[in-house]
Amino acid sequence: MSRALRILLLGWSGLALIFGIFWVQQGPLSSSAKFAAQGGPTASDEGFALTPQIIEHQVQPGETLEQIAARFGVPVAALVSSNATVLDDLRTVEPGTVLKIVTNGVLHAVKRGQTLTDIARTYGVPLTEILWANRLEDRKYIYPGEEFFIPGAATSPFFTYLQMAGGKKSLFAWPVRGVISSEFGPRIHPISGEPDFHQGIDIEVPEGTDVYAACAGRVIVAGRHSGYGLYIVLEHSTGYRTLYGHLSEIGVYRGQFIEGGQRIARSGNTGNSTGPHLHFEILQYGRPLNPLALLPP
Ligand SMILES: [Zn+2]
Repeated sequence: MSRALRILLLGWSGLALIFGIFWVQQGPLSSSAKFAAQGGPTASDEGFALTPQIIEHQVQPGETLEQIAARFGVPVAALVSSNATVLDDLRTVEPGTVLKIVTNGVLHAVKRGQTLTDIARTYGVPLTEILWANRLEDRKYIYPGEEFFIPGAATSPFFTYLQMAGGKKSLFAWPVRGVISSEFGPRIHPISGEPDFHQGIDIEVPEGTDVYAACAGRVIVAGRHSGYGLYIVLEHSTGYRTLYGHLSEIGVYRGQFIEGGQRIARSGNTGNSTGPHLHFEILQYGRPLNPLALLPP
């Protein structure tokens, strides 16, 4: 090999190393995505390590999530988010559990019926960046249980869901936290003064409070009603539906797949309402149930 060729080769590998470092530090974020879109090197062209760095850690007896997150330099929210399939409690983690430590993003496990567009909407990350980071441009299908890297994400609805469920997984989590100003059941209607059956609970919260999905599901109504005002209905498994009324702003569209703990709206005072609050219903096969009996403490 001639000296000139060897220098040339050295030069190229040096350049590749510099790009490699750039990529690791930047992560597959918008700058890199733009770079690729402009016809820059792609994974197949140059063989750069574009996939996220994932370290596996087996939980030792006595270790907490906070300790593990601190040790690997990732936020607790990101650690929990990347391990939604093996964690169900923010306070304790079973020794022997294998956790995935992911930097500059989180891992998302695909749910049945969820599309990549849904996932992009859920995390607020452009679809192109998710496709690019996971080399999915040529894929026609994705499958439940597959894990994808969400570049730049530091948390997920799963983490919020656990927080709104009081730390531990349960069937439903609170959509907002506040004082219950009207319970489920027979009452005198606050506006008409007539006997009435309250199909849900009223939770007092200031206008504009984030409203989270109480459970994973699909949006079947996102619109306006004379009584409920701006409202959303989600459909869940086993015949359950949840309804969120008197909203000031709707952040989802009909047909969209929603994660439990995903922000779907802001609370308000629209429709037949006497002050800012969230009206929340849980129904099963069309029958209203007492949400307080199904929500965690
Ligand atoms: Zn109500």
